[in-house]
Amino acid sequence: MTRSRLVLTILAFLLVPFSATLAADRPSVSWHPRTLHPGDVAWVFVQGIAGGTTIEGSLGVRSLLFFPYAGGQAAVVGVDLETKAGPTAWQLAVLEPGREPRHLGGKLTVGRRDFPVQRLTLPPAMVDLDPETERRAVSEGERLRTLYRTITPERLWHGRWTKPVASPEPGGGFGSRRVINGQPRAPHTGLDFAAPRGTPVVAANAGRIALLGDYFFPGRLVALDHGLGLYTLYFHLDTLAVGDGERVERGQVIGTVGSTGRATGPHLHFGAQVGLARVNPAALLGLDVND
Ligand SMILES: [Zn+2]
Repeated sequence: MTRSRLVLTILAFLLVPFSATLAADRPSVSWHPRTLHPGDVAWVFVQGIAGGTTIEGSLGVRSLLFFPYAGGQAAVVGVDLETKAGPTAWQLAVLEPGREPRHLGGKLTVGRRDFPVQRLTLPPAMVDLDPETERRAVSEGERLRTLYRTITPERLWHGRWTKPVASPEPGGGFGSRRVINGQPRAPHTGLDFAAPRGTPVVAANAGRIALLGDYFFPGRLVALDHGLGLYTLYFHLDTLAVGDGERVERGQVIGTVGSTGRATGPHLHFGAQVGLARVNPAALLGLDVND
């Protein structure tokens, strides 16, 4: 062995255990973005942890569900569109086999975001519901919320998210405070893409078909489960091209654009839920988790 090689070998022996100890002692936590706004999709990346580590945590009222990512672990979290501005606390418990749990925490800021007011005029029968239709709409909304509370324990999505319709426009209307026939209504929780009836609608990422339905407001719909509490929604479809429970890939055709349910014309209403947070699907399309 040459002298320089011997030095390198000794250095390697000295450095490897040292850096491994350092890594295990100080998990680094980074938030993306660091300042949040209502409707955002954020993610947290924890590095410097040993294999086999479990991380539990929360941001405000939302649980963080971690998955292996780039040699560490990451979790995606939603900021509901009606979140109030102000500080919000995060907490993590890093549970490494054979070690005392380590607790980390801090604060992020939720900034203000003002959404526009949108005034719509619709046929009274679509707005002032008779009691039976009202009951139907309420139970369908409940069915959807029950779905969003159902957490598939594994991540089914990977890499970047894709726009569900090949339309040049960015989509619009997320979060707008709706005044329908002069009465204030629930905010609009999706992104609307105007497109001709029959335009193919594709899965924004890989997942499993969790719900197919023909509901009063959403019309013909697909709910796609991406795992770990993340769902995307496709409303007002003309036709469906998938079966219940089917696994789909990103970009796979799941149906076509229509105007079923409460719609003023053919368009895709694209929605996204992370945990129970109603988030801007545009934020999901911009999510920089690349694996
Ligand atoms: Zn819509």
